[in-house]
Amino acid sequence: MKNKKRQKNKNKIKFSNQKANVVACKKLEFTTEEITLTNPENIIVKIKSSAICGGDKKAYIGKHPFVDFPIALGHEFSGEIVAAGKKANNFSAGDRVVVEPAVNCGNCSNCLQGKYNFCQDLTFLYRQGKAGMAQYIEVAANKAYKLPDSLSFQEGALIEPLAVAVHAWQRNQVKFSDKVAIIGSGTIGLLLLQLALNSGVKKTTIFGISDSKLELAHELGADNVIKNQNKSKAEKLNNKYNQVFEAVGLEQTLNQALDITKPDGRVVLVGLYKNEILVDLNKAIQKELNIYGSQGYCWNFSEAIDLAASGKIKLNPLITNQFKLAEIDKALETAIDPAEEAIKVICNC
Ligand SMILES: [Zn+2]
Ligand SMILES: [Zn+2]
Repeated sequence: MKNKKRQKNKNKIKFSNQKANVVACKKLEFTTEEITLTNPENIIVKIKSSAICGGDKKAYIGKHPFVDFPIALGHEFSGEIVAAGKKANNFSAGDRVVVEPAVNCGNCSNCLQGKYNFCQDLTFLYRQGKAGMAQYIEVAANKAYKLPDSLSFQEGALIEPLAVAVHAWQRNQVKFSDKVAIIGSGTIGLLLLQLALNSGVKKTTIFGISDSKLELAHELGADNVIKNQNKSKAEKLNNKYNQVFEAVGLEQTLNQALDITKPDGRVVLVGLYKNEILVDLNKAIQKELNIYGSQGYCWNFSEAIDLAASGKIKLNPLITNQFKLAEIDKALETAIDPAEEAIKVICNC
């Protein structure tokens, strides 16, 4: 018995993990912890690349709506398995993986129907103190997806936002004759643009405020790029689009979405609004608009990986800045500075 116990403990490899936390507004601290496999259905991943997302930026400036300090950072990441439990879905050490960071209960009525993006206890790994801006992470194997060799770890870190865009894309009902507009030229907007271009729709237009991001949209193949500061040009496009994606999350961009959608057209809302906003819903009534929300992702990681691996969706052009994990303060400062016009900032861990 004693021997067995000693044997068991010997098999429990420990990993010393450095993890970045925001402890106060713009104040970061690294903590060290030991990570071991706590469940045979889990894996331990050596994180290789981790991307900064909107939630990380809000946490850094002390404006995260749901979590208090200290806040672990990073939920868009990829890496290599260094330990796999016995029941870890055929994963083994050395596998390259992407991890889905959403955590759902598995037991509520929404989870049981497979609609886990509506789980009543939906949360994210980083809100449980497990995050991507770290060296190691222990996660459930059923939240990991193999990363094809053709994709780099950096591209792997962008599979999560691509899953968000894929989910939003599937909330529309596109026909080949449709004109599609995307409001917002950030990560999700540029990914939606690429999905629209792949779908073979008649015309794609992207609205944004950053010259460099609109230039990239043009290079990616957008038929029309419109700078929102050019009001008269933007207003000429009212009532022109069958399908509109609102990928910003501001009062003016939602009102713009209602303006540019054709009667009986569809608006998909994917940018989150920070506060309650004022909207002229008479536009929606008079044009009988169909307004759809899009909540995160639900079974979209495999599709996202396939789209990236096939080259249909290009992730590399979205990676504008890369740092080492130790330089995470610089990475966050770059990500929050509008003058940098950064799209995706990545820390290589
Ligand atoms: Zn994200
Ligand atoms: Zn649930």
